[in-house]
Amino acid sequence: MTRLAIIGGGIVGKSLLFSLAKEKRQKYDSITLYESDALAPACTQRSTAIVAARGVLPGLSTLGDNIHQGISFFCQHVKSDSPSGVYPVKQVSSALLKQDAFFRRYQSFTRDSQFQELNFSQEVPLFVEDAYYVKPSEYCQWLLSEAQKKINVKVSNDFVVSLDKEGNVRTLGGESIQYDHVILACGVKNHLWAGLVDEPKLKKTKSVRGSFLLFQNISLFHASYSLSIDDLNFIYRYETQELLIGSTSQESRLYEFDEKKDLTKIYDYFKNLLKIELPDISQGQVQIGMREKAPKREPYSGIEGRISYLGGLYKNGFTLGLKMATDVVRQLP
Ligand SMILES: Cc1cc2nc3c(=O)[nH]c(=O)nc-3n(C[C@H](O)[C@H](O)[C@H](O)COP(=O)(O)OP(=O)(O)OC[C@H]3O[C@@H](n4cnc5c(N)ncnc54)[C@H](O)[C@@H]3O)c2cc1C
Repeated sequence: MTRLAIIGGGIVGKSLLFSLAKEKRQKYDSITLYESDALAPACTQRSTAIVAARGVLPGLSTLGDNIHQGISFFCQHVKSDSPSGVYPVKQVSSALLKQDAFFRRYQSFTRDSQFQELNFSQEVPLFVEDAYYVKPSEYCQWLLSEAQKKINVKVSNDFVVSLDKEGNVRTLGGESIQYDHVILACGVKNHLWAGLVDEPKLKKTKSVRGSFLLFQNISLFHASYSLSIDDLNFIYRYETQELLIGSTSQESRLYEFDEKKDLTKIYDYFKNLLKIELPDISQGQVQIGMREKAPKREPYSGIEGRISYLGGLYKNGFTLGLKMATDVVRQLP
């Protein structure tokens, strides 16, 4: 009997399962997915989760090329698999600061001078792309149930406390099992296993906190928009009637209790910029996620003996997750 374990059930862990079901149906007799938010809350469930190039062009950097490949892979997936929890959105980008850099970056995009429904209080240059937003809980559940239709998956909500190069896993709940192969998909907690593999990027990862205000049951527009101005985001999800305003970004391994102070500034920024009746700020719930940032923001993946690993997706987990998971699955022994 051949056994595979995946540690981590965020977008990466769930994409691995989906890819395993698609690519390697008969390879492992049993697959266990360990996902425990008890000690490591999933970033995936606290993400604005937009899949868009946002002006990144191919041919200029490794990361830019990865993003382009990730997006086209994801778009193909949406077309051929019609997943639940993925919705079209207009990505509208602009800049009020550093406009020269902005125009250089967006030179090959169509310039729109206005976008009526957003109702700006001043003239701003706008660039519009077709993109997707993901409802993380719905999409991750879909990935899991699609995988379970084809392969034998056990989901364990136990936390893995020890792992060695031989594939021996021990959990907080007292389970002790040897696996033929283990895939690390622990997001910001991947660094705990850095001693097991030689991957240099994994040894140098940082944790970057991101946060936004989530307003629910909000009726604002007749379509979904993701507006990004000077790295600040105003996202309206029409289908799920949610408004997301953020995001802050700060290197830290700690959650912040007073995150609302910074988010209030971003809320006020959009309140001044858009002539729209926004919900009262007191209705906004603070959502905080920890992102794993590797050197040069480049994700990493590989295989060493019985251990495969995938991480460093930083701000691009939904954009890069499926493509990278598929590549890792194709390399499995
Ligand atoms: C505010 C914010 C906005 C973002 N916006 C976007 C965006 O617009 N587009 C985009 O593509 N990306 C975005 N991201 C980034 C994206 O959300 C992340 O890159 C992605 O969620 C990371 O997924 P992951 O599966 O690697 O990690 P996680 O989602 O953190 O999942 C790791 C899982 O592993 C589990 N785990 C860890 N260690 C163990 C263990 N020892 N035993 C058992 N379980 C364990 C954790 O509990 C967790 O469930 C955003 C992130 C934030 C915070």
